[in-house]
Amino acid sequence: MSAKILSGKDLALKIKKEIENEVNQLREEGIVPGLAVVIIGDNPASRIYVNGKRKMCAEVGIKSYEYALNRDCSEEEVISLINKLNSNKDINGILVQLPLPKHIDEDKIIKSINPDKDVDGFHPESITGIVRGTPKFIPCTPFGIIEFLNENNIQLEGKKCVVVGRSNIVGKPISFLLLSQNATVTMCHSKTVDLAKVTKQAEILVVAVGKPKFIKKDMVKEGAIVIDVGINRMEDRKIIGDVDFEEVKEVASAITPVPGGVGVMTKVMLMKNTVKAAMLQSKKV
Ligand code: NDP
Repeated sequence: MSAKILSGKDLALKIKKEIENEVNQLREEGIVPGLAVVIIGDNPASRIYVNGKRKMCAEVGIKSYEYALNRDCSEEEVISLINKLNSNKDINGILVQLPLPKHIDEDKIIKSINPDKDVDGFHPESITGIVRGTPKFIPCTPFGIIEFLNENNIQLEGKKCVVVGRSNIVGKPISFLLLSQNATVTMCHSKTVDLAKVTKQAEILVVAVGKPKFIKKDMVKEGAIVIDVGINRMEDRKIIGDVDFEEVKEVASAITPVPGGVGVMTKVMLMKNTVKAAMLQSKKV
């Protein structure tokens, strides 16, 4: 058997087009969605992500604002900037590009963002919403995954889903989102005993570990749907997923490629969250 390859590219383009139409409509009513991105220091990967977000904002008609702070800025300076952005009516969404320099407490910074502008979905209020099944903002990567599963008509209700990885930005939120769609969810992590035995039970296997080709053929049930969230940049600049694609596609019924799978959805979902924030703040939803 060779698995169906589930590409995210066309879907991401479709959603992007829908967002562009929504933004045009809002603009006709005098509402211009605005996204503020705060970048601290000169991490090259962060710079690439921030540039990518700015480019997509321009493509869909969202106004982007960038605030670049020095690597050695104080926590107070960051919070003072966020307070200003919280009360700026032109700005609907605030995103602080992670990771932050070591001397800045990530938790404190995230908590200082107005939850109504938390388009990254990392604020405790956003997390509570996901756990309770009443999300306002969903972190962009898990949001992209759940949208991807739904749009590909992958039935979740009653399905045995195994999520490998329990980070706050991917593993935990995607587990609760799957649960809210009535899947039976098992969450695995580095202390899971006999991981392969657990992953082999999955009808839908979601992998977010951060280790290239970590999931092998003998860890996957015949006919499973495999969603690879991993993005591992190798020395030769090539990007590799957490799943051994060549091996696993022989046993899975469907599999996402890396790159070009669920990863391409993330930025688009940020745009979607920003438009939602603009609508919420103008009382349109
Ligand atoms: P983290 O490093 O925060 O979390 C990794 C998780 O994997 C942890 O929960 C860890 O367990 C678990 N893990 C590590 N080793 C093992 C093991 N041997 N067996 C089982 N579980 C293990 O990573 P992220 O969640 O931030 O990212 C995961 C991957 O997803 C990365 O490749 C990242 O690049 C990618 N990613 C992609 C995004 C996108 O598509 N745009 C966005 C975000 C991430 P424990 O908790 O016990 O330590």
